[in-house]
Amino acid sequence: MTTPILLAVDQGTTSSRAVLFDDAGRILSSHSVAFKQHYPQPGWVEHEPEDILRSVTEAIQTAVSLVDNAAANIVAMGITNQRETTLVWEKATGRCVCPAIVWQCRRTASYVEKIEKDGMSETIREKTGLIPDAYFSATKLKYILDTLGLHERAENGELCFGTVDSFLCWHLCENHPHVTDESNASRTMLYNIHLHKWDNELLEYFGIPEKMLPRVVSSAEAVGMLSPMIIGKPIPMCSLAGDQHAALFGQACFDEGMVKNTYGTGCFMLMNTGSECVQSKKKLISTVAWRLSGKTTYAIEGSVFVAGAAIQWLRDEMGLISSAQESEALASSVKDTGGVYCVPSFTGLGAPYWDMYSRGTIIGITRGTGRAHIVRAVLESIAYQSQDLLNAIIEGSGVTPKNMRVDGGASANGFLMQFQADISGIPIVRPQTIETTALGAALFAGYAIGLYPTVDDIRKYVRRDSEFTPKMSEDERSARLRKWHDAVQRSMDWAK
Ligand code: ADP
Repeated sequence: MTTPILLAVDQGTTSSRAVLFDDAGRILSSHSVAFKQHYPQPGWVEHEPEDILRSVTEAIQTAVSLVDNAAANIVAMGITNQRETTLVWEKATGRCVCPAIVWQCRRTASYVEKIEKDGMSETIREKTGLIPDAYFSATKLKYILDTLGLHERAENGELCFGTVDSFLCWHLCENHPHVTDESNASRTMLYNIHLHKWDNELLEYFGIPEKMLPRVVSSAEAVGMLSPMIIGKPIPMCSLAGDQHAALFGQACFDEGMVKNTYGTGCFMLMNTGSECVQSKKKLISTVAWRLSGKTTYAIEGSVFVAGAAIQWLRDEMGLISSAQESEALASSVKDTGGVYCVPSFTGLGAPYWDMYSRGTIIGITRGTGRAHIVRAVLESIAYQSQDLLNAIIEGSGVTPKNMRVDGGASANGFLMQFQADISGIPIVRPQTIETTALGAALFAGYAIGLYPTVDDIRKYVRRDSEFTPKMSEDERSARLRKWHDAVQRSMDWAK
């Protein structure tokens, strides 16, 4: 008997990846295609919609070509995607009216100031779980309609809006389904996460006609068939989910109180809060984790702006290391940082500080401080920042997790993971497949077609690789955290 194959597409900010998994969640092949970033003005970030489509198609075709007979055995596929990035295209032709405005793009910051002036911040927070920011899709979509004079065409039903999941489904599937899943919808700042629908008051406030919005579906549900033009055979498109949401699922964080942290360029930490939407007082985001079989699971989310990016800085700007991997051996070559603390707030501090004027700080340097101490202090800063997030999530939810599951490029660093366990005082669990985002998309798709009858049947396919247990004494842990918080205070307000 042949093994069923699941195809996952992970459409990220800098590259598109396709991964084939067997039905036990093991990777059979993987291929990634990078594409160009466009920075037309300081603070602006755009993608060419054609580049997104081309890179996804190429990634799928190559990943499929690497496995014998793959096309014949693929039973379902899923998409997971960079979130919030906004696209608008013509219903009649599929042509986008402008480049994709990427989540990182700050061009609509003035719209957000207006939200505050209009006294709409609290309403938005209550309805969408989000803190109003240029990051989310609503102001980007409003900007496109305003600046290109498209309100009338949108009212006439000539235009479609979508995040990347929606855009890919429409363009790659037969009969152009115009859909998005609830996790992606929850990042638009237009979706009422309690009532599970586009919010009329917010649509009116932003001037967005509902006609142009996608239909909201579950995260695991057949929505169409991938066009046979791509791999010579139609494939059921069975799941859509935002990348961090798919990673939470791919880490099997199915129960309330389970947490995952992704260590990439920045860090994204999500805690499953179950069927209840927890509104945090610590300025964290409440979001839809996923919707399965008509039931919504919520999460609370926080992010660190600079994590792995600080390691890139050590390599590319400081020249203190020649590769990210080297940081581990170097940090382990000294017994501690010799009292050095680094706060890598290159672009300000996110949760729980929210100080956009904080700037990078290295403090505690003495005549004996060397390269290894600095590198170690930078790695430790990633763990300290994650601990601050974890603490905020614990305070916000009132739940202390039993452990924290980790993934992302920098989770390969054993020193960092051990230090995280020490400073957080809970075990850190690293899975065998650190491609948890793609795995999540594949598992959602498998669930949609009944390959896994219940979510519980999936747990065994998320295998652990290592567990790092805390070894630091409580006294040392609190002394170090005190020093870290002192360093953070000294970094604050610097650029004001
Ligand atoms: P993203 O998806 O945000 O691009 P990845 O998950 O691919 O990020 O992780 C890449 C990041 O991880 C880079 O910022 C890199 O500096 C960091 N990184 C990769 N390997 C290591 C390592 N062994 N130790 C520390 N950081 C690492």
